[in-house]
Amino acid sequence: MKDQQWTIIRVLKWTTEYFASRGIEQPRTDAEVLLAHVLGYKRLDLYLNFDQPLTKRELATYREAIKRRAKREPVQYITGEQEFWSLPIKVTPAVLIPRPETECLVEKALEVARKLQICGKITHILEIGTGSGAISLALAKELQNVLVFATDISPEALALARQNAINLNLHSKITFFASNLYDSLGSGAREYFDIIVSNPPYISEEEYEKLPPEIRDFEPRKALFGGKDGVSVTREIILSGGKYLKPGGTMLLEIGYSQGQTFKDFAKSIAWISHVKIHRDYSGLDRVLALGKK
Ligand code: GLN
Repeated sequence: MKDQQWTIIRVLKWTTEYFASRGIEQPRTDAEVLLAHVLGYKRLDLYLNFDQPLTKRELATYREAIKRRAKREPVQYITGEQEFWSLPIKVTPAVLIPRPETECLVEKALEVARKLQICGKITHILEIGTGSGAISLALAKELQNVLVFATDISPEALALARQNAINLNLHSKITFFASNLYDSLGSGAREYFDIIVSNPPYISEEEYEKLPPEIRDFEPRKALFGGKDGVSVTREIILSGGKYLKPGGTMLLEIGYSQGQTFKDFAKSIAWISHVKIHRDYSGLDRVLALGKK
C-alpha cells in the first residue's frame, strides 16, 4: 500500500518521463518548478521532502498543471511568474515572458544612466513596449535619481506592469501609459529623454513559423512579430524616436542575432544619429543596438 503512494519523488519521476515523451526540453526542471509552485515550496524544499506524500487536492492541482505544460504552454504562464534581474515578475499570456538575454539591454542602459548620474541630475528614461514592465522595473530598481516612462499598446499589459511596479514598490519611479510607439507623447516630450530603451518585436515571418510551440502558440504575436523581415517595428522606433531624445542622448534596442549589420547600415542613413554600436549578449551574439544622438 505504502509504495503506491504518490510521494514527491515518485511524482517527479513520473512527470519527468511523461514530459520527455511529449518532447519537452527540460522535463525534470519543469516538473520540479510546477510541483514546487503547487505545493508553495522552493525547488530545494522538494529535495528535502522527497518522501512526503501528496494530498488528493495537491495531486489534482498538479495534474492540471501537467496537462497545460504537456500542451506546451510555457511554465511561466502556469506559475504566473518569471525572475528577471533577480526580481519576481508576474506574467500572463498578455505579455512576453522576460528573457535572460534582455538583461544585457538593462546592463547597457545602466552603464549609460550611471555616467549621466554622476552630475546629479534626474535621468529621464522612456521605454517603448514595456509588456510585463521587466526592463523599466529593473532600471527603476537600480537607479536613484530616475523617472521612467513606460508605454505599451496593450491595456492588459499595462495593468500587469503597473501591478508589478506596485508589488515591487517601484511605482513612484515609473509612469505607465498607453501608446502605440510614440503616438501618445505630446510636444512636451521633445528632447526630454536621456535614454530610450526597447525590446521590440523583431522576429521575421520565416522565423516565426519555426519558433517552438511554447513561443509561437502562447506568447503574444504582437510582442514578437516584427513584420515580414522582422525589422519594421525597430525601424519605426529608430525613425520616430530621435526627436524625443536630448542632444547627446542614447537609444538602446534589443535586436535579433542576425540583424546587427542591417541596423548598422540603416542607422548610417538616419540624420539624428551620431554613432552606432552593437553589443553582444552572453552567448556572443549581436543583441543590443546603441544609437547616439548628435
Ligand atoms: N528573443 C525573443 C525570442 O526568443 C524575441 C523577443 C522579441 O521579439 N523582442 O523569441
